[in-house]
Amino acid sequence: MSERPSPARLSVVVPCLNEEEVIEATHRRIAEALEPVPDLDFEILYVDDGSTDGTLAKLREISRNDPRARVISFSRNFGQEAAFTAGLRHASGDAAAVIDADLQDPPEVLPEMLSRWREGAEIAYGVRTERAGETAFKKGTSRLFHRCIARISEVPIPLDAGDFRIMDRAAVDAFLALPERDRLARGLVTWIGFRRTAVPYRREPRAAGETKYSIGKMLALALDGILSFSRAPVRVASWLGLAAVAAALAGFGWVAAGWLFAAEYSGPSVLFLTVVWLGGIQLAAIGLLGEYLVRIYGEVKRRPLYLVRETLGFPSPAAGERAPGDREHGARRGATRG
Ligand code: UDP
Ligand code: MG
Repeated sequence: MSERPSPARLSVVVPCLNEEEVIEATHRRIAEALEPVPDLDFEILYVDDGSTDGTLAKLREISRNDPRARVISFSRNFGQEAAFTAGLRHASGDAAAVIDADLQDPPEVLPEMLSRWREGAEIAYGVRTERAGETAFKKGTSRLFHRCIARISEVPIPLDAGDFRIMDRAAVDAFLALPERDRLARGLVTWIGFRRTAVPYRREPRAAGETKYSIGKMLALALDGILSFSRAPVRVASWLGLAAVAAALAGFGWVAAGWLFAAEYSGPSVLFLTVVWLGGIQLAAIGLLGEYLVRIYGEVKRRPLYLVRETLGFPSPAAGERAPGDREHGARRGATRG
């Protein structure tokens, strides 16, 4: 086991999209939860994921008043997964935590995750025992998604785990070194391995504001997750194709037998059905291939995951850049303010 440094440094990453109503309370609660922890030095990295409300102004204010606060502001909305990837890239801690801005993940759980880390866990992830104040629809679809992905994924993805977790520096570096763009983080964090432990917690209702996930955005995330962690959909297409071929052969046998022994020929209807069926299966298979192709296309374009407009509160312009494989483009340089 690698020795945990003491005093240790923790980076807390908070992705924020239009969270002006809660962000100050969030900052206060994270700070209050971590201040009593002995031998701990911490920084809080807010990633403003292209907010269109007063979030950035509030963050500026927070960073003016608290030297432990850092702000990374995106040029537009790139999504939660890109936001916390950016936060992790700029994190300088021996360990890094990821937490939602809306106080659904209670900051008071962080000290417990931290003790798991101090005891040797490299990833301590939150598992929701209860989800207060979320709609039955949201809970139902989330459950369905997790069960589905757990069943067909090629890496075991923990059930009812979100993005609330603490990762050791080694795990953070491994996570950041992964080059892919479709980053269903829960899956990637499982894929990298490391010693892991679950920390149960009660998920609170959102402190203020509304969920930033529309049904469309949730479906897109689910589809990305399933397709980037499983080849099962393509296999389904192949099996359907094989079944169609077998059925068609049987149909041909049946038509041939009728023709030979009963001098009846029902060819046209059989032919029609066969054509429609095979056509449908081919379309489905092509569609699935297309899904994977689109993803390959996304990967080979090698566009950066996100673009940073400016950063605030970092000790020096170059500090905060410590991750390997950093492919952020020039936007940050020159735009950095101390
Ligand atoms: N978020 C983000 N970019 C997005 C969507 C969400 O940074 O495109 C942030 C959001 O501000 C919050 C976290 O991700 O801190 C979780 O979002 P939300 O609470 O809306 O999701 P839910 O809890 O409803 O699943
Ligand atoms: Mg939320």
